[in-house]
Amino acid sequence: MSFRTRLAVFFVLLVVVPMVALGVVVARLVTDSEKGKADARAGAHVTSALAVYERASEQGGLHARRLGADPVLSDAIREGDRQLARTRLRTLTRQQGLERVVIERAGRGGASGGAGAGAGSGAAGRQPFVALGNPTAVAAGEATVRGGAGADAARLAVIEASTISAADLVRLVASPGVEAAVRRGDRTLASSLPAAAGDLPRRGRIALDGTEYVAAGFSAEDFGGSRDEISVLTDAGGSNAAVARNRRLAFALLGGFLLLAFAGALVVSRQLQGQIGRFLAAAKRVGGGDFSTAVPTEGSDEFAQLGDEFNKMSHELEQRIGELDRERARLRESIQRVGETFASNLDRRALLELGAETIADAVEASAGRASAVGSEPVRIGEVEALAPALDAAEARARAAGAPAQAQAGQTHALACPIPRSRDGAEPHGTVAVARRDRAFDEEELALVGSLAAQTGISLENVELHDQVARQAVTDELTGLFNHRRFQEVMAAEVAAAARFGQPLGLLLLDIDDFKKVNDTYGHQQGDLVLKAVAAALRENSREIDEPARYGGEEMAVALPQTDLDGAYTIAERVRESVAALVVPALDGGEPLRVTVSIGVAASASAGKDALVAAADAALYVAKRSGKNRTERAPVADPAAAERE
Ligand code: GH3
Ligand code: MG
Ligand code: MG
Repeated sequence: MSFRTRLAVFFVLLVVVPMVALGVVVARLVTDSEKGKADARAGAHVTSALAVYERASEQGGLHARRLGADPVLSDAIREGDRQLARTRLRTLTRQQGLERVVIERAGRGGASGGAGAGAGSGAAGRQPFVALGNPTAVAAGEATVRGGAGADAARLAVIEASTISAADLVRLVASPGVEAAVRRGDRTLASSLPAAAGDLPRRGRIALDGTEYVAAGFSAEDFGGSRDEISVLTDAGGSNAAVARNRRLAFALLGGFLLLAFAGALVVSRQLQGQIGRFLAAAKRVGGGDFSTAVPTEGSDEFAQLGDEFNKMSHELEQRIGELDRERARLRESIQRVGETFASNLDRRALLELGAETIADAVEASAGRASAVGSEPVRIGEVEALAPALDAAEARARAAGAPAQAQAGQTHALACPIPRSRDGAEPHGTVAVARRDRAFDEEELALVGSLAAQTGISLENVELHDQVARQAVTDELTGLFNHRRFQEVMAAEVAAAARFGQPLGLLLLDIDDFKKVNDTYGHQQGDLVLKAVAAALRENSREIDEPARYGGEEMAVALPQTDLDGAYTIAERVRESVAALVVPALDGGEPLRVTVSIGVAASASAGKDALVAAADAALYVAKRSGKNRTERAPVADPAAAERE
């Protein structure tokens, strides 16, 4: 079930159903109330009709007593003179404006007690003494006529008089919406309704000629003990119309309320859906990796709280992802660093830097430095600011030959020797890292120690590599460059000299009568002589020169930026230096003295081989000319030859 459907169901259950039930109850209440009002109205009309009837009855009684007090009439009754009585009564009736008068004489028939009842019951079925006026007169009042005075005077007759006809009564009672009917026995005396016939109910509802009436009425004793039935019919149409009107009003109110509730529910539902829609959209955005827009929150309701929590969550997630990104960047940097170190051709400083940076990264230090034999020191981060702690830690580590910590103010530093794998050997150097506010724990100490050891191994690898590389170009006996290296140097120097138009000199040296030394003192002594000559050659060479053992007991030096005269000068210095050498004899005998012959050439324009050949030729000349001397190449440079 969707959220919207659920809301609709709630609306129907909580609003529509109760409102419909309320509507039914209100309709019932309205009907009952209007019925009650109609009944009360009918009751009021009956009460007023009864009042009219009773007033007329009293009026009748008053007139009857006045008639009874008339002496002429009294005498006529006493005498039983019906003619006289009738005549007199007609006069009196006219005078008093009476509707009807009936006189019943007592005694006839033997009734002497119970005036009303006796007169009434006695009257039935026989002629009264005198009866005058409208037979449909109603509301008779009576008076007794007595012979003599006093309470015990004999009763002569009963006079009944009426001032109102049935039609008059109906006229007085009836009004618009109110009808009246008077019946005596089964005879209708008068009615405001043309069709009022038959038994009208004393109470209840009746429909006549398509009109609904509330019926009410009363009965009263009348002339000669007869009974009048007076019915009052009140039109119920008014109450029906009121019921309809009130129902319409009630339904209009309920309808209005329902409409209002529906509109309210619609607005609330829209708001809810809007909120949830916004949450959904935000969740989708976050899911897609977009943390830029937060869920808008207003007020402090549950939705606002939910929105706040969601925003917090999203912010946390963003930070976590940020951290992950930074970690990834660091990893990338580390990998790049390792790659660069590989590419740096096992450079000592690069290795030291890699070690120091890796150690600083591993313990989240903000500064670090490292130093090792044969390399420039390395510095990372804010070394200056944290130097006191770094200095102290390094001093302790060096003194202890083990990792050590130190603190200066809020700064904590950790230093560790960079050990050699060989036990007891002097360490390569020291690495130290520092950070603020947090000391280093045992785990970090162990980690730094392990990384420092790896850095040490790397440095040893560099040393080994350097050693092998050195051996590959060095002559083992003399320590001079070997023949291969000499060829490389020559090729490079010839190219450089040609490129920059500079002279290049070459010195080629051969020990005189070396065979004899070997033959006389043995090869070991010969080796010693070779070493001594090589040392003399190295001593007399410049920084830029690279003396080499050309082969056997021949040595050569390429002399960059040196012309023939310059080469000659250097060669002479070498020659004299060798001649001055005193080589101790291995057998403890007389020390040995040796001499060398040297050939020099200059200029690179003809190429490497030509230069060597020229120097070699000069050497040959020196040998032929008596040894222990230096000879210039006769024609080493065609241009120089031209000049000569
Ligand atoms: P010259 O004055 O004409 O040069 O005479 P020489 O005796 O020096 O003649 P040569 O150059 O022909 O002799 C070279 C000798 O050097 C031959 C060889 O036994 C010796 N020799 C070459 N290499 C070595 C070495 O590494 N150690 C020793 N002890 N002798 C070597
Ligand atoms: Mg030789
Ligand atoms: Mg020789």
